[in-house]
Amino acid sequence: MDTLTDYREHLKEMNIISSALALLSWDQETHMPSRGIMARSQVTGRFAKNLFELSIAPELGETLKVLEKDDSLTTEEQASVRDMAKNYHRQKAIPPALIEEHATVQSQSQAAWAEAREKDDFSLFQPLLTKMVDYARRFADYYGYEDHPYDALLEEFEPGMTVKKLAAIIAPLREQLVPFMRRLAADGTPPSTTPIEGTFDVDRQRELALKALQLIGYDFDAGALDDVAHPFTTAIAFDDVRVTNRYLGNQVTSGLFGALHEGGHALYNQGMPENLYQLRLDGGSSNGIHESQSRMIENQLGRSLPFWKHFQPVLAGIFPQFQDVTPEALYRAVNVVSPSFVRVEADEVTYNLHIMLRAELEAGLIAGEIQVADLPERWNDAMDRYLGVTPPNDTLGVLQDVHWSVGYFGYFPSYMLGNLFASQMAVTIRQDIPDLDERIAAGDARVLIDWLKTHVHQLGGVYQPDDLMMRITGETLDSSHFVRYVEAKYSQIYGLS
Ligand code: ZN
Repeated sequence: MDTLTDYREHLKEMNIISSALALLSWDQETHMPSRGIMARSQVTGRFAKNLFELSIAPELGETLKVLEKDDSLTTEEQASVRDMAKNYHRQKAIPPALIEEHATVQSQSQAAWAEAREKDDFSLFQPLLTKMVDYARRFADYYGYEDHPYDALLEEFEPGMTVKKLAAIIAPLREQLVPFMRRLAADGTPPSTTPIEGTFDVDRQRELALKALQLIGYDFDAGALDDVAHPFTTAIAFDDVRVTNRYLGNQVTSGLFGALHEGGHALYNQGMPENLYQLRLDGGSSNGIHESQSRMIENQLGRSLPFWKHFQPVLAGIFPQFQDVTPEALYRAVNVVSPSFVRVEADEVTYNLHIMLRAELEAGLIAGEIQVADLPERWNDAMDRYLGVTPPNDTLGVLQDVHWSVGYFGYFPSYMLGNLFASQMAVTIRQDIPDLDERIAAGDARVLIDWLKTHVHQLGGVYQPDDLMMRITGETLDSSHFVRYVEAKYSQIYGLS
């Protein structure tokens, strides 16, 4: 057999195990009985070990060495070799004993975080978080970096992103968003949320979520919708991309926007050809690009007036109390800007400020410039400076997110980048489809989805974020598109001149 065939066979083995792991994890979140966890963790532990061994197998290393010099490979094959080689070297760089130690401390750390959060006592989490930061710093050293240790961690989620680049994105964004947020509060008229208040039957909300997923062309023959506590989307395999959702009895919009968000992630994966799954390029270009696809559907589409022109009768068909509520009133009600303590409840204008705060603290922790003991105070101070609010306790402050407890340092920036990528893409989409608003108002969301499929989805992880944005929009990431988008939208809603 030739090297490429060997390589593809090796990826096939990895795919089979990844797929089983994804299914086990999906089942654990959706249907597994709580007492099943002991037996399940043994099964997932075994498969995870198998996958890890395959990802650092010496024969894979040899194959990659040959293929990296082979210029007869297709663009897709080259991209696959690029990503697999990167992963191979990163995994190989960490001593196996350290990986095992990290995994043990990780579960203790997550438990300590949950307890600290429940008791609102940061001191219960502090020693474990200190360990997790220490591991992240050691990993960064093993991975290697040029300028800043945090760069080595960002690379995992956002190829090519660095502290330097991030700072250049964050500074101008903050300088414009903070005063704009203050102007809205001081001079604007906030929209009324009365039209969306009430109690809403959960089964009917699920029906509404199905309608929303149908509108965007989510393929139920290659997917499923299930209930969970913390919604996610998982690509179990080609033609098996599942979404999950959560419904709150007193908030009809939470389940609706949740479905649109996860649906946006799912469309990305449903839009990729099988070859990209075979080449393990189905993770997409980056976490930020993946998030851009969910934000595109949730915000650029779901929180737009044209969407509500079409969707108001759909909503009223399921919840008759909306019969006399105008699309304009719904559009305004779902676009309230209000600085909040909690990231996941944040609106379009303030969301990125929550992320900047986290990114800056993370970079400081990893560089050793910020001590874990000082985090609560640093957090509250930054909240006050960026959002003008101070959390009343650490549960609503530094303890709100699970990420750090499991060692996900470098993950947060992707959430912000997703919003920025999406608004930059939206500018190009409007140039390509001048009658976009009219078509969406007429119920033709597919015109948007088809565009995304052609320019983003079907390329999967072939291109790195910078290259992809160049291809799509003719420029690399420029946050001014996002600023123009929110300023125009919310000035109009809040009646600012
Ligand atoms: Zn998401």
